[in-house]
Amino acid sequence: MLKADRLDAQVSCLDQAYETVRNHSALYEQGQKDGVKNTCLDLSDVLFCLNRHGLGYASVIQESNSHLVVRIQQCRECERQSPGCGCSYIAGFLAGALRAMGKPATLSVHEVSCGEGSSPSCVFMASW
Ligand SMILES: [Zn+2]
Repeated sequence: MLKADRLDAQVSCLDQAYETVRNHSALYEQGQKDGVKNTCLDLSDVLFCLNRHGLGYASVIQESNSHLVVRIQQCRECERQSPGCGCSYIAGFLAGALRAMGKPATLSVHEVSCGEGSSPSCVFMASW
């Protein structure tokens, strides 16, 4: 009996993990679709675009010919859920907007830190 209870708990934990992963990748996909629709000619357009869509205040922390690090202050996605839960929609949106600007289709965006500080702010890294 005890053994069975423990097994149930493990299964529900696994189910929960799968649900979270599925939701996050669905949010990333949706963000990407919304992001790629925008007319972004350069990086300042991409940053402006994030602000204009009410996702937060974006600024570039680091830039090279193969990666880009962006900080979003007053992250709307963190405010909507709770800080630190992971902002997959914004990650996807950033990826889409950067593609619209002409970055390669292989580009992907990962969130490096989520919900830090009181604003809260999130840091995203795009690489291609
Ligand atoms: Zn975040």
